[in-house]
Amino acid sequence: MAAIGRFQKGDEIFHAKVVDGELFRLQGDVFGSPSFEKKPTPFKGLRTLTPVNPSKVICVGLNYADHAREANKPLPKEPLFWLKAPTSLIPDGAKIEIPFATHRVDFEAELAVVIGRRVRNVTPAAAARYIFGYTAAQDVSDRTIQNAESQWARAKSFDTFTPLGPYVETKIDPHDLTIQLFQNGQLRQNSNTSQLIFNCFDVVSFISTNMTLLPGDVILTGTPSGVGAIESGDRLEVRIQGLAPLVNTVK
Ligand code: MG
Repeated sequence: MAAIGRFQKGDEIFHAKVVDGELFRLQGDVFGSPSFEKKPTPFKGLRTLTPVNPSKVICVGLNYADHAREANKPLPKEPLFWLKAPTSLIPDGAKIEIPFATHRVDFEAELAVVIGRRVRNVTPAAAARYIFGYTAAQDVSDRTIQNAESQWARAKSFDTFTPLGPYVETKIDPHDLTIQLFQNGQLRQNSNTSQLIFNCFDVVSFISTNMTLLPGDVILTGTPSGVGAIESGDRLEVRIQGLAPLVNTVK
């Protein structure tokens, strides 16, 4: 497999492989051993959905040293994680909605891990076997609420606060990729996943000792420094090396 997306045409929802701008529909279970149609399906008339429909979205925080510094927080000794409501997910191209005009709401570019097989209590060395692939995400955050509360679920779970996609790349080394966020064409965040304090395999292992991870579950691995406020009309683009860009606007 390679870049896998999820699409809708009328009432029908299906996964497909995206190769050089062409779609090849998948048959069978995307997390099993699917086959692909030989003939491409036209893109026209299709809606791009989030590439998976997870049972849970887990966020790792303060996982880049430079972001922990800008947030004035000590580096965590173990991965720090919390849950984000799956109803906050939106696909590539959809609008992020600011819930309160007076609140500060920030962008956060993140590499997302997508789980491929049910897993519990896995070691970091064995974690890769349970990962389906990687995609781009944002952990949009209402800082006004986040700074006022000790739990972060509310600040980060508003509808539209988790852009994800457009596709899951199943064949990529996740640990040496540039990760960037552009706000209206201006570079705001610029780092590399080699700077992760706990890498993708560490976080899958750690979370799996706490809760069972299911196929399609999504883990956001944290954001580098450079986070900033968003405003209505903004165009936000997450660019991660080797992945299709994730573009969303704000209203
Ligand atoms: Mg985050």
